[in-house]
Amino acid sequence: MGYEVRAILTWVSASGQGGGGMEDDSDTLERSAYAASRVSPQRAVIARAVNGMTRAFSIEDLIGEVRLELPGIGAATVYRAVSAMEATGFVESLGMREGSAIYARCRSDGHHHHLVCTVCGAVTDTRCPITLHAHPAPAGFRVTGHTLVLYGQCAACRREASAEGPALEAEGA
Ligand SMILES: [Zn+2]
Ligand SMILES: [Zn+2]
Ligand SMILES: [Zn+2]
Repeated sequence: MGYEVRAILTWVSASGQGGGGMEDDSDTLERSAYAASRVSPQRAVIARAVNGMTRAFSIEDLIGEVRLELPGIGAATVYRAVSAMEATGFVESLGMREGSAIYARCRSDGHHHHLVCTVCGAVTDTRCPITLHAHPAPAGFRVTGHTLVLYGQCAACRREASAEGPALEAEGA
């Protein structure tokens, strides 16, 4: 079983998302997450839950976390909060997992992409492999941005799988 990467490449005409420097202070956090909207106490709890996510998560995962603190919160409230956070770049969309949209809280600045482990959900930043001078856009189309998510199995999950199953080929660091 070789390392398999499935790439989704979407050429979009939207402007790229610039990452602003964010301090890990919850007041700054909430203001930056909802700069354009009023921050309700519920949304502050949701922002903190998102900030605590160390792996890719679905909205269902997030609802589970938020309900530890706010048992009565409605799913629609969490969905709306995530939409607002995505619009501000506080969370990034990482495509789909088993029919659910998945997200990550990314703290890196500047243009980059993500490798997502489909087994454990670990998210790793990676440099942009795309050169805009060698893209497949038709003549006359001006590319102004793109999204790219790489899926596969992380080294730890591959080691675990190889301990259970047939040995994998050795791989250099
Ligand atoms: Zn990132
Ligand atoms: Zn993994
Ligand atoms: Zn890129």
